[in-house]
Amino acid sequence: MGKPIFIVEDERSISDALAYALRSEGFSAQCFETGAAALAAFSKESPDFVILDIGLPDMSGFELCKRLRLTSSVPILFLTARAEEIDRVLGFELGGDDYMTKPFSPRELVARVKAILRRSAQEVSAPAPTSVSRAFVINEETLVVTYRGKPLDLSRYEFRLLSVLVRRPGRVYSREELMDRAWESPEMSLERTVDTHIKTIRAKLRAITPDHDPIVTHRGFGYSLREDA
Ligand code: CA
Repeated sequence: MGKPIFIVEDERSISDALAYALRSEGFSAQCFETGAAALAAFSKESPDFVILDIGLPDMSGFELCKRLRLTSSVPILFLTARAEEIDRVLGFELGGDDYMTKPFSPRELVARVKAILRRSAQEVSAPAPTSVSRAFVINEETLVVTYRGKPLDLSRYEFRLLSVLVRRPGRVYSREELMDRAWESPEMSLERTVDTHIKTIRAKLRAITPDHDPIVTHRGFGYSLREDA
């Protein structure tokens, strides 16, 4: 039996229905009616997934999410009863992975849980993502990449392309992979478009470090960021 899924929800009818739906799919589920109870159990049980009601009796689900996020990247799905809460759920600062609006079908929720777990399993099996290499810092909110402390003036595709490389220093990407990750409709573009953008990115980096090229070309294949970029 895998690690449990926490259901933090003060409405018993909802948490019972959810726990039933999860267990019938082979998951182990634990229900908590307060944020405090869930927090107390969290470090002991290290659940695989947390389903979190926003309106809890002792603290808001947002508050609980923030506290869990201090130490954990466990997937979190919010349950919300009010449309106005959705905007906050969608705000990235909370680090929630998904949400459902009440009333919802427990079966659909279980399907979402499975999809998110599948996605995070893929991320775990890949090499650990690095949001920042030593030389590069990406600000997702302002869409600015700084290189050795200096902000780069990048086009949208340059930003996306460089972000892919910077997240996994040393990881070699084929041109095709880079297209898939950085372009909205890769089928519309040619692989040599990647080369063109890499060239312009390099020129911008060279303006900062004339003697050092942090991007490595893998001939006939693609590119990577130097591990010691
Ligand atoms: Ca509630």
